[in-house]
Amino acid sequence: MKSIIDDKNILHIGFDDTDSRYGRCTTHLAFKIVSNLKRNYSLNFLDYPLLVRLNPNIPWKTRGNGAICIRLRTDNNKDIERIIEDIRNELERCSYIGNGANPGLVFFEGLEIPNEIKEFYRFAMFDILSKQKALKIVKKNNMKCFAYGNGQGLVGATAALGCILESDYTFEVIAYRKSDNLQTSRKIDVLKVIDFDRSMYPYTFNCYDYIHKRVLIAPHGPDPVFCGIRGEDPKILLNGLKMLEIKEKLEGYLVYRTNQGTGMHLNNKLELANTKTYTSGFSRCKVVTNPYTIQGGHILFAVMDNSDTCLAAVYEPTGLTKIASQLHIGDFIEIGFGVRKATSKHTKVLNVEYILILKAVNIYELINPNCKNCGKRMKSEGKNKGFQCKRCKTLDRYGEKVKLLKPRTIKEDLYIPNAKAQRHLTKPLHRYGMEKNGWNRKTDVFLNWFEIFV
Ligand SMILES: [Zn+2]
Repeated sequence: MKSIIDDKNILHIGFDDTDSRYGRCTTHLAFKIVSNLKRNYSLNFLDYPLLVRLNPNIPWKTRGNGAICIRLRTDNNKDIERIIEDIRNELERCSYIGNGANPGLVFFEGLEIPNEIKEFYRFAMFDILSKQKALKIVKKNNMKCFAYGNGQGLVGATAALGCILESDYTFEVIAYRKSDNLQTSRKIDVLKVIDFDRSMYPYTFNCYDYIHKRVLIAPHGPDPVFCGIRGEDPKILLNGLKMLEIKEKLEGYLVYRTNQGTGMHLNNKLELANTKTYTSGFSRCKVVTNPYTIQGGHILFAVMDNSDTCLAAVYEPTGLTKIASQLHIGDFIEIGFGVRKATSKHTKVLNVEYILILKAVNIYELINPNCKNCGKRMKSEGKNKGFQCKRCKTLDRYGEKVKLLKPRTIKEDLYIPNAKAQRHLTKPLHRYGMEKNGWNRKTDVFLNWFEIFV
């Protein structure tokens, strides 16, 4: 009997698109919601709040395309209705409805998330999904749902609810500012950031850009986020927060479990013939034109798989152009990419997010033959007229050019954008090989993940 009661007391909450480019922040709403829940109800959280990044190649996404999922079990079943009401009020109060935000909020009661909702998340990582499809799933599974503005937030909210993060994942601790301080600049000790980053490597990522000498943990502008530290383990991240010795009085912090840094949006293989605009994925393909540079220092080249040929673009800010420019016809590569929309000027283009060189072909240079008499390189007498040695005047009427193997300047290796150009989902180079395989609430650390400072 106990398990049935337990099942009834479980609530999953998903929301998205509460912010807009004018400010505020979906994770700050999560922080407030968690604060209120902890204060007003007797309940347990079943997981860290999830910070879910969705397909980053959709142009109408919110800033970071981050959605949130919170899972909890109440001690009293009667609380569920009140909790739903409270969260809805908080979301309406805090969102920028009518100012660019189109929030969606969904609730699911029960232990197991239906496969259909998990599938919706899987597709939301790389595809374009409609709010009609989200609505259909919401109705079919008796979920409570609230949508505002154009309702687009329902897609991310439903996807977040279907996100279990049962394979790879990372953590981010986000510290929030008190509202009085929002207009002041953040004071962060750069040396302390570098010190933390160096001492915790490889268990943290995207803290500092050593090439451009930039701190990456703090946003700019009136955002309520003071800083966010990313890595593999909540304990290390909270330790990092201490190591920074932040002088500003903060509102508090919250640790999220997240798909950031997992490269998950590029995990599905796409046939070049079936690449839809704005989808993300990867392809194993052959380079079929030599790369060329266009204005702005961007590099273009064509690739081909069994189904089609496509133009691939490597943008200058990614720092990948130096590698891309050394590709050669015949090279066999894997690329991760987002599909850019076709315009009147160009067909659809694959925006490259990583390059894995699987096989760099041998390339040859054709050179004049050496003199059979004295060994010196001969000069051509003109097309089909043979060669003559300038030193000993030996003539070779039937001589032919010879193939000389040219050393390749690129290594068969994986190349990803530099830190400044990385997206939330980009998997840092050093994370390859250290992917996690699911989370277990019973055995993994699940302490001190939330605090309000007083
Ligand atoms: Zn000679």
